[in-house]
Amino acid sequence: MTASPASLDRVGRLADTIEFSAVDGPGNRFVVFLQGCTLDCLACHNPQTIPLVGGRDVTVGDLVEQIRRAAPFLSGVTISGGEATLQAAFVHDLFAAIGAEESLARLTRFLDTNGDAPRSTWDALDGVLDGAMVDLKALGERHALMFGLVCGTLGFFFYGLAPTGYWFWAAMPLAALWGVVNPAAQAIMTRHVTAQEQGRLQGAVGSMNSIAGIIAPTLFTQTLAAVAQAHVHTFWAGATFWLAAAMVGIGGIVAWRVTRGE
Ligand code: SF4
Repeated sequence: MTASPASLDRVGRLADTIEFSAVDGPGNRFVVFLQGCTLDCLACHNPQTIPLVGGRDVTVGDLVEQIRRAAPFLSGVTISGGEATLQAAFVHDLFAAIGAEESLARLTRFLDTNGDAPRSTWDALDGVLDGAMVDLKALGERHALMFGLVCGTLGFFFYGLAPTGYWFWAAMPLAALWGVVNPAAQAIMTRHVTAQEQGRLQGAVGSMNSIAGIIAPTLFTQTLAAVAQAHVHTFWAGATFWLAAAMVGIGGIVAWRVTRGE
């Protein structure tokens, strides 16, 4: 479907904006949080955006101006909420305006949604979206974090026990669920800092990853070397993976303690 022209005067109900976010889609994104939601999830990340009343009026033109200023540092724009599809005409016009402006057209346009919209809404947005991210809040962030850490711990533990390659493969789906840890942890962390501090938070997370990237290769290759020399045909052959399991498990205990009350 071809997008119809945008109205810069279109008014939407805005809860807030974040100029730079690394957790609302790929790359560095400008995020527009619209006011009002169709659901009332227990694990809502932005409960203040649920009421249909509240927020403030903003025009498409106002937001395009803000996005223009931040554009040199952006990969894209995400419209979130609340449930953004409740204001589908505003979403359409904002994304159409971004797509129509030469200096902004390279920005990807993503919608963060609970998916609770009729087919006609998706048809209307089809020509202006580069993608939609459908949130499933079944677990909640803290439970998702703990679930991922338990799966990671068990996955590495079973890797260490695996007597053959086939057993190792069998443990992979469990270990792969460790992947939910990062987004869940990011969601919890970003809630604890202001919009202005998000960049500093991402810098701190990146620094910690770099430090881990320096220590881990030495630690694990030395462990593997010790195991290979003395225990390659014994029960302890999987010790390198058990070390990883122990570290993820300790991370789980720390996460359990520090996220109490989330
Ligand atoms: S759909 Fe999203 S914004 Fe709406 S209540 Fe659920 S978590 Fe909150």
